[in-house]
Amino acid sequence: MSPTTRKIVCFSDFDGTIFMQDTGHVLFDNLGCGEERRRLLDEQIKTGERSFRDVSEEMWGSLRVPFEDGFQIMEKELEIDPGFQEFHQFCVANDIDFNVISAGLKPILRKVLDTFLGEHEASRIQIVANDADIRSDGSEWKPIWRHDTELGHDKALSVKEGRALAAESALDGEIPLIIFIGDGVSDLPAAREADVLFARRGLRLEEYCIENKIPYIGFDSFADVKREVEAIMKEDQQKTGGVGKPARFNPRANMWRRISSKQAIPQFVAATPSREDKMFLWPESFSEYHPTSQMNNVPA
Ligand SMILES: [Mg+2]
Repeated sequence: MSPTTRKIVCFSDFDGTIFMQDTGHVLFDNLGCGEERRRLLDEQIKTGERSFRDVSEEMWGSLRVPFEDGFQIMEKELEIDPGFQEFHQFCVANDIDFNVISAGLKPILRKVLDTFLGEHEASRIQIVANDADIRSDGSEWKPIWRHDTELGHDKALSVKEGRALAAESALDGEIPLIIFIGDGVSDLPAAREADVLFARRGLRLEEYCIENKIPYIGFDSFADVKREVEAIMKEDQQKTGGVGKPARFNPRANMWRRISSKQAIPQFVAATPSREDKMFLWPESFSEYHPTSQMNNVPA
């Protein structure tokens, strides 16, 4: 029997979180604009010179290879977190919804998961990401953005929607527990929407959590996440019996639930990120480690 009766929904970042590398970097560096240009473009986002969406379109547009060729290199270079598969199987066994939430392109992420986990297991994972138009001859790789914002995908909005959906389908009085797992600064707006936050150790999401005093649990592999989630489930069942507020409850994240109840999140939220959120409009690609000393320039 599951250690808790409460509904649990997991949202996880993909690049740098489930996989140790960034799918986009692997493609752009090997088959597209090249590492040097990619770093320069990343810098343009960082300085605010150009938007993430604009730069991403240039990066994806620099690819001129068929999808299959691009995939061969990803299969060779990508490494899955050693504890991920076991964690995912644990989620399936315990009826925990597991969703990928990414600034990347859905067809690519789907194919990577199918390959590394097998289609059957991968089919249990919902992917919330941008769509893409990839011509079979490789002449065009074009993102179809999920939201009409500078980021293309407002991950915080997607987590809010996921929470609202889970609350809607929950039994009377049951409040679902929302877990977010990530590694980079671009995860921060979404991470703030979760009740329980996991940040990969030594990377920028963790640094920001420390700087901004955001509670989080550090992890080195999904084996740590599994152990912690099991403990959280037990704790929740003991303290609440799975009814009402979860033992780990983030009131700020749950404000939406009170305000909008079962209604959909208003569209304008997507178009007008708060000033605070804007500070964190960093791309997925900035997930490599930067010592704290270099991060002092970042607005906080
Ligand atoms: Mg990431």
